[in-house]
Amino acid sequence: IQQILLNERPEGLPTADTFKTVTTELPAPANGEVLLQPLYFSVDPYMRGRMSDARSYIPPFRVREPIESGGVATVVESKDPRFTAGDLVMPGGGRNFFPWATGILFPGDHLRKIDGSISPSYYLGVLGMPGLTAYFGLMDIGKPKAGETVVISGAAGAVGLVAGQIARLQGCRVVGIAGGEEKVKMLTGEFNFDAAINYKDNKHLDEAIAAACPNGVDIYFDNVGGEISDAVMQHLNFFARIPVCGQIALYNSTEVPMGPRVQPTLIKFSVLMQGFTIGNYAPRYGEGMQQLGEWIRAGKIKYAETVIEGFDQLPTALLGLFSGKNSGKMIVKV
Ligand code: NDP
Repeated sequence: IQQILLNERPEGLPTADTFKTVTTELPAPANGEVLLQPLYFSVDPYMRGRMSDARSYIPPFRVREPIESGGVATVVESKDPRFTAGDLVMPGGGRNFFPWATGILFPGDHLRKIDGSISPSYYLGVLGMPGLTAYFGLMDIGKPKAGETVVISGAAGAVGLVAGQIARLQGCRVVGIAGGEEKVKMLTGEFNFDAAINYKDNKHLDEAIAAACPNGVDIYFDNVGGEISDAVMQHLNFFARIPVCGQIALYNSTEVPMGPRVQPTLIKFSVLMQGFTIGNYAPRYGEGMQQLGEWIRAGKIKYAETVIEGFDQLPTALLGLFSGKNSGKMIVKV
């Protein structure tokens, strides 16, 4: 089998030297173990954080060991009576990741079966970690009310697309910020956003936000941070809420970004800004999955994916997140 290891910890944007592909052999599964063939791997922005050894909510990847991420796999051979060849499975029972390998030995105790009636990759997106992040971040921290204006950065991505549609379902005016004309068209077309702004072609982001938000901003769902957030902050209303979901604009920074830049605004307008990680909501995943599932079945939430084919494309797909190569969830089909 092949494995992709973290070869060295990157400084700034990861490069080809960050990764190393090796060939190795797997023993036969022992009692309680299951041999898996991965079908899809997820690549997600937080993985950049795990490449560094800075203090975090999740331990760093180990150097010279396989990188790991969310995934869906098919059972090839099982020494655990709960699984049979052909079952579709994901990590479970306290585990969230599969190693980046073309064959995986995994303890049956840490696997869960998934329902094959829904596209399996959806469990990595709208019905998985990104969808739950959008749901809890918006509903629990954003607390949307009908008639309010919600601005979402990283709007055309895995989390942003779901957050925007949920905000619309709550009766809000929804404005997305994304990189590129195609993404902006997708947001206002297929995904029914009220307005969308291409930050890459907008020297006057501040004015574009003012024009798209004539009544100011009540909720800013922040996926990116940096200058986009600086611009949105100028337009916050009294008692605005900011779920700080991600800061992808800063993940490859080698210096601490300039700051503080927003505090006076937070004080003047009594703004609530709260960071969160989805793991905080683990006891409520069932509720989130049920609500998202209902909306999907009712056709109220749609989804988009960018599927890249080939195990060897995993590093490229991961790096593609940092230049916006994806619309919706970035997935690698093995
Ligand atoms: P996306 O699918 O949104 O992919 C990342 C997107 O970020 C790219 O497509 C690109 O879109 C945008 N981007 C990349 N670099 C920059 C930049 N310098 N400035 C502005 N935009 C940039 O990823 P996810 O939906 O999975 O994640 C979105 C955010 O949410 C990330 O910051 C992630 O870390 C965070 N997150 C947080 C979780 C939590 O528990 N708090 C859980 C899941 C995700 P574009 O073309 O628009 O630039």
